[in-house]
Order: sequence, then structure tokens, then C-alpha cells
Amino acid sequence: MRDLLTSFLNSIRLKRQHVVLLLLVSFAVVVIVAVAVVLTALKTVAVTTNALDESRSRQAVSGALTTLQSQMASTMVDYTVWDAAAQAVYSPEAEDWVLQNFDLANAASDIFDTAYLLGPDGKVLMAFKRGVPFSTSPSQFLSPAFDGMMKAVRSAGIGQGAGASGFVRTSDGIAIVGVSTIRGASPDVSVPQDRLQQLVFVRRLDQAKIDAIAETYLIQDLRLIDASSVVPGTALISDPAGHVIAGLTWTAQSPGDVSYRQVRPYVFAAMAIVGVFIFLLVLVGSFVIGKLRGDEIAARKMALTDRLSGLSNRMGLFSGLQDMIGLARDGRNDVLLFYLDMDGFKEVNDVYGHATGDRLIISVAAGLAHLVPQGAILARLGGDEFAIAMPVNGGTRTAPSLETLVLDFFSEPFLIGELVVVVGVSVGTAVSAHGSVDAEELLRRADIAMYKAKAEGRGRAVAYDMQMDSALAERKAMEVALRAGIQNKEFFVVYQPVVDARTQAIAGLEALLRWNSPQMGMVSPDVFIPLAESSGLIDKLGLFVMEEALRTVRTWPHIGISINISPAQFRNPFFIPNVARLLEESGVRPASVTLEVTEGYFIHNPAHARGMIEALNALGVRIALDDFGAGFSSIGYLRQFGFDRLKLDRSMTSALEEIPRGREMLQATLALAAALDIPVTAEGIETEEQATFLRLCGCDQLQGYFFSRPIEEAALSALLAENADSRIVSLSA
Ligand code: C2E
Ligand code: MG
Ligand code: MG
Repeated sequence: MRDLLTSFLNSIRLKRQHVVLLLLVSFAVVVIVAVAVVLTALKTVAVTTNALDESRSRQAVSGALTTLQSQMASTMVDYTVWDAAAQAVYSPEAEDWVLQNFDLANAASDIFDTAYLLGPDGKVLMAFKRGVPFSTSPSQFLSPAFDGMMKAVRSAGIGQGAGASGFVRTSDGIAIVGVSTIRGASPDVSVPQDRLQQLVFVRRLDQAKIDAIAETYLIQDLRLIDASSVVPGTALISDPAGHVIAGLTWTAQSPGDVSYRQVRPYVFAAMAIVGVFIFLLVLVGSFVIGKLRGDEIAARKMALTDRLSGLSNRMGLFSGLQDMIGLARDGRNDVLLFYLDMDGFKEVNDVYGHATGDRLIISVAAGLAHLVPQGAILARLGGDEFAIAMPVNGGTRTAPSLETLVLDFFSEPFLIGELVVVVGVSVGTAVSAHGSVDAEELLRRADIAMYKAKAEGRGRAVAYDMQMDSALAERKAMEVALRAGIQNKEFFVVYQPVVDARTQAIAGLEALLRWNSPQMGMVSPDVFIPLAESSGLIDKLGLFVMEEALRTVRTWPHIGISINISPAQFRNPFFIPNVARLLEESGVRPASVTLEVTEGYFIHNPAHARGMIEALNALGVRIALDDFGAGFSSIGYLRQFGFDRLKLDRSMTSALEEIPRGREMLQATLALAAALDIPVTAEGIETEEQATFLRLCGCDQLQGYFFSRPIEEAALSALLAENADSRIVSLSA
């Protein structure tokens, strides 16, 4: 599940632009939806407001109509329930009174436009329309609803219901009609019950009247409509009989719509601002994320890059190699790994300094970068180690060619500024066939192969094979045995005499370590010393030899003692104090002790070596350069470090017979030593001729089987006693 999520996130990571686009689109959709929701809400408010306004208008109009009707009713009461009127209209002088007091002939009356005075049986006693006598009878002028009103009023006499008002259709249009029986206001005014008269006022509902209502109640465009065109929502006008005779309609003001229209642009503007803001936010966010991701990528890249060369580092190689192996597994091809270790880089560093070493690394990196094919990974694993990983089709088609290219590249000297520097390379190769070997194992295999190339003499490429692992396992087992051997005291020291070249008397002894292993028998120092050096056991062994040798030689103060010291011992900070302590404990004269050191250490660590030699000189011991002529053999070292003695390697002695110009070589070397005033011991003397020749050449001491093999301590006293001043060759047989 987590893998799924990670891979999903990774796939998103790859398409950042798409994510930004998606975000923008979704925000746009959100903004649009938000706009729609807000507008819908506003629209709902508007519709509700409109409905409320509509209902208020309708109530106002209905109220206005009711008011009209009740106004007419009270007007009728004012005119007809009047003592003076009751007394006058039923008297013979009624006509004049009526005309004068009811003002029926007033053309400009606001109360009525048509007026009738009706007598018994509805007889028209007087009729005026807009101030002019009117000859149309009420039944002709007014709709039958009026008859109903009349009937009710008349049947009420002067009691309850003697007056009525209502809307009636007239031949002029809709009108408000009031009818009331003329009677006294006080009970003592009596009226003739059989001749009761009614006053009728008709006021047409003309547009002026309607406009007045509209103005009072703030209703727009109020107008009368036919009964046939009445729709729900209009204010209805019904006659007293209950029939709808007309309606009033108006133009809705829709205040909600007005507000809605006014607010809408602001909503759009607000949403536009939000939209722009979010858009900017996404843009800035994506920029920031992009920048962060850029930083992250840069940091990752830096963590996987070697600072000096700019190539991938070990981590970079490892992750690249893993990917490559994964692909090889899918694609069924192989991955080839080269492990390169430069030969002689340390010397360059020591002799010319680290700045030159760094520049050499940079030019090697640049040169290798030209050699590796496309798709390969070139990495610097640290120090002078490089690696090349590449996919190969069908095994090793490109491999030999790259191997040759690399070896050729290193066979040329490098030009570092003014310096010409010569280094070589040892290459180990390993193949992960179809990705079957993982990155870690592949690296290990190529590394082992590289060590094998070094061991086989450097400057070559060696391919890994399974046996290397068993060799390694053997080495490991040997190391375990060595450790146990020290614990079980399987080590002992033998002594090889060194004789005076002239007198052949024993001048000194060289202490040589021996290991008698119960499982392996006698193991050669050439085998176990390097192992002790690489495993760190040499410190213990070295001290053991020194302690033994000093204890042994205590008995013969005139005999010198030579002790071999490994470079590894020199690196131990306690070495000098330990030597001082052992010397003191043994009581042996420091001047009779010679420490034998090989030149390798002086080549690799000149500064440190010089310090060590000074410290040892201060203790009073001598230093001899062992195995001279076997390796680099620079006369420069002899001068620089001020050795007390030179030990000519056995190979130089045997060269006398084996190499054509061996004698000349030997003579030249010894002449050089003589010029530097350094005494020389010749090692490996096996014949009398060799002894004689080397003595004649100037060696003051000789050592070899010709005189004596290394012998155990127990045999020493006899040898030394017997050979105080004669040749000891007889003993070595
Ligand atoms: P080395 O210091 O050059 O010691 C001389 C080696 O030459 C010894 O080998 C010795 O037995 C051998 N040798 C002497 N004369 C003759 C001869 O006439 N013919 C032949 N063929 N060989 C002769 P060994 O004892 O096997 O030691 C080998 C090397 O192991 C030594 O070379 C020395 O480098 C190292 N070594 C031995 N003991 C010690 C030790 O206690 N400490 C350290 N650090 N190295 C030791
Ligand atoms: Mg030696
Ligand atoms: Mg030697």
C-alpha cells in the first residue's frame, strides 16, 4: 500500500505542470460553483422580496377598494341620516331643498358624478349626471346588482341596513355606488314609512381615481381590467351579489430583481478577485515548490557527487548500479563493473604534495570520462579508486576494448602543470549476468579482482572468479590461526649470524621470527608477516621478537643484534616508547642494536619516517636499510635519511652468477655506498666465491647459509664459544 502511494506520488512528482494545471482547473471550477451558489442565494432572496412586495401591493389595492366602499358608505350616512333632510325631503318644498342642500346639480363634485333621488317603488324623483339632468333610469344605467342593493335597503325601512355601498357595473364602466334611505338622525324626527326616499350616488372608477390610489399606496401603473382578463394575483372587484365585475392590476416593481441586478456585478467582482488571488497563489506556490524541489534535487545530486572530480561518489555509483542491475534483470542483459585503483598514486602524493595529487585525480577523471561509453556510470570511490559500471549486451563485447583503453590511458605519463607524473592502474572486473548479482556483491567481487591484479604485479586487469573468494576465505582462516598461534605461543625466534667479512668472526646476529603451526607446520615469514601486518597483529609479534632478541643477546655484549621492523610498527604511536622500555629492561647497549627497515615505508611516508629515525637515533640504536636492490633502491633515500648500514638483498648476491652484468651492477652500488660512507652487509651468501667477491667489493659484513643458517637460541652459545675467532662455515653444513 505504501509502495503504491509512493509510486503514485512519484508519478505526480514527475508531472508538476500537470498538477499545477489540475489545481488551476479545480480552483476555477470551485470559483464558478461558488459564484453560482451565491447568485442562487441572492436570486432566492430576490424572488422572496418580489413575492412580499407583490402581496403588499395586492393588500394595499384591496385595502384601497374597501376604503373607497366604506368612504362611500359614510358619505351616504352624512347626506341621508340628517334631521333637516328628513324633514325637508318628505315635505312639498322638497325639490328646492334637495337641489340646494344635496348639491345634485354640481358638475364638479368629487363625491359622485351621477346622483338619483328615488321615491317609492324606485321612481326617479330627480336625476343628474355631471350637473345635467339625466334621463336614464337606474335599471338601465346600472347593472342588476344595483337592484339587489336597492331591494335590501328598501326592505330595511329606516332600521339597520337602510344604507349600502358597493361596486357596480354601469354603462359608463365600473363605479362605486352608494344608496341610503333619507331619515332623521334623532328618533323624534319622523318620516313617512310608506313614502321613503333613497339617495343614490354613483362615482365612476375612472383612471384619475385609480391614479390617486396608486399614488397613495406607491403602486406603479395601476389600471382597471376586464373581468374576463382577471388572473390570479390581481385585486378583484366584486359587486354586492358577489360576481367579479373587474380587477385592478399593476406593474410589479420587483425590488428583489432590482437589488439582485445591483448586487450581481459585485459578486462577480468579488469572485474574480478571489479567482485571481487563488491563481496567483497557485502560481507562486508552484514556483516555490519548484524551487524547493530544485534545491532538493541539487542537494541530492551533491550528496551523490564527488566534490573533487565532479563524478559520482560511492553512494552515487551504488544507487546508479542498483538501477542498472534492475534494468538488466528486466531487459536480460548484463552489467559490467570495473574497479580501478591507481598504482603509485601515494608516491605522487607524498613526493609532490596533495595539490598535485588532487590535480592528478582531476585529470584522470577527465580522461576516463572520455573513454567510458554512453550510458555508463563513472565514479570516484575515494582516494585513488574509480569505478565504471555499464550495461553490456551479450556478455563482454565492449568489455575488453574498454579494459585496453583504460590500461593504455594509464600507460601514458600525466602532465600536471610542469610536472610529468607516471602512475599505473590495477583493474578488477566483475559481471552481473542478467542482473543476477546485486550491486553490493558486484562491487565486492570487482574489488577482490582488483586486489588480485595488484598482487599479480599491478598494471593489469583481472576478472573476478569464484576461486578468489576461496583464497580470501583461506586468508581469513590463516588470520584466525595466526591469532590463536600468538595465544598458544607457537612463535619463536631464530638467529642468523652475521660475520665480519675480513676475519669471518661472528659480528652479530639477525633475529628472525618462526611460526610452527600445529595444523600447517612451519609457515614462512614471507607468508605470515604480511598477514600479521594487514591484521594488526604485527605490533604484538614485533615486540615479542624484540624482547626475545634483547634477552638472548644480553649474554654476549660484544655481539650486535639486528631486529626486523615492519612499516606497520612504525605507524604505532607507542612504538618508540616500547623500544625505549625494552632496551632499558634488557640492559642491552643501544649502540649494539640495529633495526632493519625496508625502503617502502620511506617512500610512502618520508616526513613521518624522518621523525621516527630521529627519535630512534636519540635512543642510540642503529638503523639499517634492509633488502637494498630488491625494489626501488634510490640512492636519494640513503642520503636523505642517514642510514647507519645498508643490507644488500639476496637477489643482488645471486645476480653475481645469474645476470650478465651482475658484477658491474654490484660494484657500482657498493662504490656508491662507499662514497656515501655507509657500511654494507651482503645477504644470501651461499658460496665461497660470493663471499670473497663481496668482501673485495667492500662489504664489511656477510650473511648467508654459507656461514650459517638461522639457528635456535639453544645452539647459539656453542656456536659463539667455538667460533670466537675462526670461520664458522663448518657449523652451517
Ligand atoms: P630478511 O630480513 O631479508 O631476512 C633474511 C632472510 O633471508 C631470512 O629469511 C633468511 O633465512 C634468509 N637467508 C639468509 N641467508 C640466506 C641464504 O644464504 N640463502 C637464502 N636462500 N636465504 C637466506 P626468513 O627468515 O624466511 O625471513 C624472510 C623475511 O621475513 C625477512 O627478510 C624479513 O623481511 C621478514 N622477517 C623475518 N622475521 C621477522 C621479524 O621478526 N619481524 C619482521 N618485521 N620481519 C621479519
Ligand atoms: Mg632483515
Ligand atoms: Mg634482507
